[in-house]
Formats: sequence, structure tokens, C-alpha cells
Amino acid sequence: MQRKIAIIGTGYVGLTTGVCLAHLGHKITCVDKNKNKVRKLKKGIIPIYEPGLNEILKKHQRNIEFTTNLKNAVNKSEVIFITVGTPSRKDRDIDMTYFKRAINEVANLLKEYKVIVNKSTVPVSTGDWTKKEIKKYYKGDFAVVSNPEFLREGSALKDFLGPDRIVIGVEDKKAKNIMLDIYSSIKTPKIITDIRSAELIKYASNAFLATKISFINEIATICEKTGGDIEKVAEGIGYDKRIGKHFLKAGIGFGGSCFPKDIDGLIKIADKKNYNFRLLKAVSLVNKNQQKNFVRKIKKILKKINGDTICIWGLSFKPNTDDVRKSPAIEIIKRLQKTNYKIRVYDPIAIENAKRELSLKNIKFYKSAFEAVKNSDVLVLVTEWPEFSEIDMKKVKNLMRRPYFLDGRNQFEPKKMKKLGFYYQSIGRG
Ligand code: NAD
Repeated sequence: MQRKIAIIGTGYVGLTTGVCLAHLGHKITCVDKNKNKVRKLKKGIIPIYEPGLNEILKKHQRNIEFTTNLKNAVNKSEVIFITVGTPSRKDRDIDMTYFKRAINEVANLLKEYKVIVNKSTVPVSTGDWTKKEIKKYYKGDFAVVSNPEFLREGSALKDFLGPDRIVIGVEDKKAKNIMLDIYSSIKTPKIITDIRSAELIKYASNAFLATKISFINEIATICEKTGGDIEKVAEGIGYDKRIGKHFLKAGIGFGGSCFPKDIDGLIKIADKKNYNFRLLKAVSLVNKNQQKNFVRKIKKILKKINGDTICIWGLSFKPNTDDVRKSPAIEIIKRLQKTNYKIRVYDPIAIENAKRELSLKNIKFYKSAFEAVKNSDVLVLVTEWPEFSEIDMKKVKNLMRRPYFLDGRNQFEPKKMKKLGFYYQSIGRG
């Protein structure tokens, strides 16, 4: 059955949720406070880079509208999804300002039964807080649901429409049926839990995945010290079904708008209950060291050859997105900017976003990978955009002043690179 749904917050998650729920046949009103964003969306312009989003929005335009008017959106919808940001604060705790404001605004508008669905990643017990807060302003019947989102930027549509599971934390039968109805055409396990467990599932998932990454990066360091090849080691352990093949890619560590903040968030959740989450603290530390060590490697090469020009390929925190929030590339460039090296940078999509995050000290942005690499002493691959794996590396070598290549994502074959004449280094091999 077609449901009328409001989505509060039209960022990476809100926009994907809105467009995908419209695709499933529901009637969607997307609300955002950012007038510029809403103006663009009304004209059919997508403010973020997410493959396929544009096409699917065009196809379902009849079922979706964009507005800054929260009152209208709430009044005409029976289900209200909250998808506002929950970033990290300076003290690394979870910043609930946007979430609390959104709940407060919605609570003031309620006049009849609505289902308030939280998709933002929030601390355990936020559902209880939400219920209490709404009751301050509205005395009627309503339901609160936790429905955490697991999509990955760069493959958001595929992840939303074909997820491994849908988690629904719900304590009200009517709301449960409405939620199951909304997702009825997605054939995947639906995990029905209490609200607190649903909230925790999201943090536990991200914490586990981050742990896998830090673990394989630690093994990569051991490989460097002992002479093993991390790609072979990862393959060898990945065949064990108890371990699994995914998330065993050694590199310069995780970044993005979710993993670092959710790891910090879960550590804080534990701290507040007087529990020292030692394992997760180590995961975070290993990740930071991975990036520090990488910068050390760059400096070591430049010192050895008396060079001063670095070319960085990739700015986004992963391929197929323009998102640079907590991107390893940004962290690495910031460290390099403390020196006097000249930094030449190229990314297929994320340059404009990166310019907002970085100071312009010693840095130049280029429109092509070839232009960026010209006359550099060391090439550093930070984000594994497919474009880089397919590039003519012979031409790249000829454009460089000196053929030093530090591959932070193990995208190239050490033997091939050496044959081409590169002094090639990667993570945990060669
Ligand atoms: P985002 O920053 O891209 O978007 C948030 C949007 O909410 C912004 O457009 C902002 O203007 C809007 N907003 C804030 N307060 C508002 C209000 N009161 N009314 C209307 N609009 C408001 O954030 P995001 O990356 O989409 O993340 C949203 C949530 O989803 C976070 O909790 C995040 O942890 C979680 N999440 C994100 C991802 C991801 O890959 N980005 C994946 C899973 C879960």
C-alpha cells in the first residue's frame, strides 16, 4: 500500500531514502533546512555525487517533492523519517543538536497518530528520549521506531534497495505493521527488535567492520617487518567462512563521515556507563597510526632523493563519492601542509568539497591525473578510483621528475610497476 512519508534532512541518507521509497511506490516529501539544497532539488539538480541517484529521481518525480516547509510535510504524512546529521563534537562525543532540534520541531506539529522513524545513527536510549520529548508537547497517540541505515556512499541505491537486512526497533504493533508494509517489496530478512537493540546494532556493525580494517592493517605492518605479502595473507584467511573475504583490504585506514565518528561515539557510550572499551580504542589508534606512518613513508622517500614535489591522487574518502568528511586524503594533506613540500592534487569528483576543508598552503589542484603528476618526485595514490587502475602508467612515469610511487590502496602489481621503472612501495608487500 502506498504510504505518505516525510523525510527530515535531505543529505546522503535522507535523499537516498526519499528517492528509493518513491521508487518503491510511496508518496514522499523531503524536507531540509538548507534552502539552497531544496531549490536545486526542486529543479531536479542533485547536490551530491551518488551514482544512479539522478536517473532514479527523474523516473519517480511524481512521487517525491522537496520543501523547506516542515509543517506541511508533517501534516500530510503518516510516517516521519528523521535523517539529519549526527556528527562528532570536538570532544568526540556525538553531537545531537540537529537530531534534538528536529524532534522538537516535529513534536510541536503533531495532531494525530504518526510513526516517528529514526534513521540517523544515535546513542542507545535516544528512542526513549524521543518519546519523552514528544510527550511534553503532544498528548495523543504516536510511535517511535529505530530503523538504522547501513548504506554505503558510492553504492547507496543498491544498498538501500537490496540490503543484507532491514533492522526495525519497534515496540508498537501498528507501527511494526506500517514499517513492514513500507519495506514489503524488499525481499531481505527483517530483524524486529526492541528500540535499544536496534540503536546498538548500527554501532556494533560499524565497530566490527572498523575492527576488521585495523586488524588487517596491523597484519600488513607485520608483513612489512617480516617479508610476507598482505594480499596473499588476506586471501588465505578470507577463505575461512568464519572470517569472510570482505573488509580485509589493507590500506591507509578508514575514514568518511561514519566509521571514525561512530567508533568514537560507541567509545563514549561505553565511557558514560563506566566501561572502558579497550578494543575499540585500539582500533581507532591503529587507524590514526596507519595514516601517520604513511606520511612518514612519503617524507622518508623525499628526504632520500632530496625531492620536494608530491602528487596526490584521490581526495574523497572512498571511490564513487564526492564526500571528503574525515577522508584519509584530507588528513594526510593537512599533515603534509605543515612542511614546505609542494602538493599537486587530482580527484575526479571531490576537488570542490576538498577546497572547503583544506587551507590553500602549498597546494595546487589539477583537472587531470596526468597534469597533476607532471614533474613530481613522488606519486601517492590515496583513493582507489577505477580511473587510476586503468591509467597509462608508462605515460605517468615519463611525466614525473622522479619515478617514486607510494600506493596507499595496493591497486597495482609490484612486479609490473618495477618493470615499468617505478620505485614502487605499497602497504604490507613488496
Ligand atoms: P548529511 O549531513 O549529508 O545530511 C543531513 C541533512 O540534514 C543536511 O542536508 C541538513 O541541512 C539537514 N538538516 C539538519 N537539521 C535539519 C532539520 N531540523 N530539519 C531539516 N533538515 C535538517 O548527513 P548524512 O551523511 O546523510 O547522515 C545522516 C545520518 O545518517 C547520520 O546520523 C549518519 O551517521 C547516518 N548514516 C550516514 C551514512 C552515510 O553513508 N552518509 C550511512 C548510514 C548512516
